[in-house]
Amino acid sequence: MGQDNNPTRSDDSADDSTDDSTEGVTATKRTFLQGAGVTLGAGVFPVGAGRAAVTPSNATDYASVAESTGGMVSSVHPQATEAGVEVLEDGGNAVDAAVAVQFALNVVQPHSSGIGGGGFMLVYSAEEDEITAIDNRERAPIGAEPDMFLDEQGEEVPFLARHTNGKAVGVPGTLKAADVAVKRFGRTELSELIQPAIELAAPDGRSVTVDEFLASSIADNVDDGALTPTAQQVFAPYSEPLEEGDELVQPDLADTLRTIRDEGIAPFYKGEIAADIAETVQGASRYRRTGGSMTVDDLGRYNVEITRPTHHTYEGDAHEITVRTMRSPTSGGYVIAQILALLEPFDLAQYDRRSFDVYHRLIEAFQLAFADRNEYLGDEEFVDLPWQGMLDDEYVDERREIIDPEEATDATREPGDPFAYQPGEQYYTSPRDVKGGTGENASGAHTHDASGAHTHSAVSHPGQTTHFTTADDEGNLVSWTSTIEQLFGSGIMVPGRGFVLNNELTDFDSTPGGPNEVQPEKRPLSSTSPTIVTRDGDPFMTVGSPGGWSIIHTVSQILLNVAEFGMDVEAAVAEPRVYSATGTWVQAEDGVPDGVVEELNAAGHDVSIVESIGNAQSIVVRDDGGYVGVADTRRDGSAQSPSGGE
Ligand code: GLU
Repeated sequence: MGQDNNPTRSDDSADDSTDDSTEGVTATKRTFLQGAGVTLGAGVFPVGAGRAAVTPSNATDYASVAESTGGMVSSVHPQATEAGVEVLEDGGNAVDAAVAVQFALNVVQPHSSGIGGGGFMLVYSAEEDEITAIDNRERAPIGAEPDMFLDEQGEEVPFLARHTNGKAVGVPGTLKAADVAVKRFGRTELSELIQPAIELAAPDGRSVTVDEFLASSIADNVDDGALTPTAQQVFAPYSEPLEEGDELVQPDLADTLRTIRDEGIAPFYKGEIAADIAETVQGASRYRRTGGSMTVDDLGRYNVEITRPTHHTYEGDAHEITVRTMRSPTSGGYVIAQILALLEPFDLAQYDRRSFDVYHRLIEAFQLAFADRNEYLGDEEFVDLPWQGMLDDEYVDERREIIDPEEATDATREPGDPFAYQPGEQYYTSPRDVKGGTGENASGAHTHDASGAHTHSAVSHPGQTTHFTTADDEGNLVSWTSTIEQLFGSGIMVPGRGFVLNNELTDFDSTPGGPNEVQPEKRPLSSTSPTIVTRDGDPFMTVGSPGGWSIIHTVSQILLNVAEFGMDVEAAVAEPRVYSATGTWVQAEDGVPDGVVEELNAAGHDVSIVESIGNAQSIVVRDDGGYVGVADTRRDGSAQSPSGGE
């Protein structure tokens, strides 16, 4: 573990910074990764694999931290952040800015999110003083079947074939969420908010340069044969993958965005674009892939769900916070709440943050919570989730007692019986009887393959998905995690339309019988956790991350760093993270001290060192109502405020 490989900002000194201040605005600019090896993406990267080959392309002056009284945008890409900031400067609010960021991300990071995918969005409306959740998770088409990821022998189709086939594509929700959010909360028209993205995609518009993250994703997907010929033409023209520094032009995508600008979202959900999507999904055999069943009717039936977020209070040594994040079909809200409830009585602040005592307890709590997650959780429209039981005080106490303070134990990897603590009898709306659980299915479908094979481990989530967050001068906040699942999703681009389709349905278990089995119109279980934290009833911070299962670990650790250890959010985001979900397998970022790694291994954990886990963006609301925006230095994040932000 070399110091030069530490992706955290813990050694950044004030010497690296120059202040660039205007009235009401202070942007602290830093040279990213100075003296650091690299960070590659949002998932988990084995140390060694990518390090030597990568130059820190982002060794330039992006603002990783910005302060302002006037508004804030934090996203993973500077040009997407700029699109949001321009909207704020033109009088748009936080929701308008977030929508502009999402469209821009579709162009500058077409491999991570976009109109071909879905996600989860939280909006804090200052006027209503309430948080609204807009669930835009993809749904399975009506023709989806529980065994659609099994071959004729009843064996699971290998992941590479599964994730690139038409059956993996869920009905996309991102565009619908953008439209609904702007109509419900925005001040601007969708047609205006899409304009920066059109300019980024068009050949004669704002230039977009392929960065290291996109270049490496293109190379990997071309090597895997994951991109359809249409996608290859965009990302590997003349069979040569675009490289870092090349220009990225997407004329078909620009045309699609112009159609949406001029005609609204109808063509996408019931018109000409819907027809092209359905034809592409069904006709995937054209690309030697299995076709899916999606029809124009499936697209026409899609709608977002407007809900209230989950609610969990954690009394930390530094702050009492209320964590509000998404409910099912993401597991994020319940699992983060259970992790925090398991850890709260340990009074972790009594220990050094980077001590064995803290990491060991974190790992054991993660394992307990994931054992329940993988046994019991699914889409609550279809399955009776024992989430009240999972968060019942007595149940959590009983589960916590399993933790041995010195040793890793198998017992923390076995699910409990939260139904015993759930009010009322267990019922199911699913046609299948999942009683008795099918943890084998759930964990079997999400194996940990350190070789990086395409399984649902954190290792295999090297950066897909994106999290961004915005704030405005009225106090409105948005926290939005958006995804197409794997990098480039299914790899299937809709011909003539320029966007790739998600492969979110691979988040279902491939083997039928469990709460997360495939069913028509069901939403696959997610780990996405866009979060808004309140303190004394007022908004305090936003946070979220990509990274598959490790989203939950990233968000939980940042919350603990702030509430328990009293860190400011910049330090909380930079602090090295650990990951563990099933088995003895633990991943630790490079900043976890060597001696502690030895202690963890001696206690029975099996620790591998990785360069990065997660990629969080966050905004903190200062006591004076101003904002601190933080973009994770583990990727090219950029936090920026509008100029003249008083
Ligand atoms: N599909 C994943 C989920 O919903 C997100 C993908 C990722 O972050 O890697 O949990």
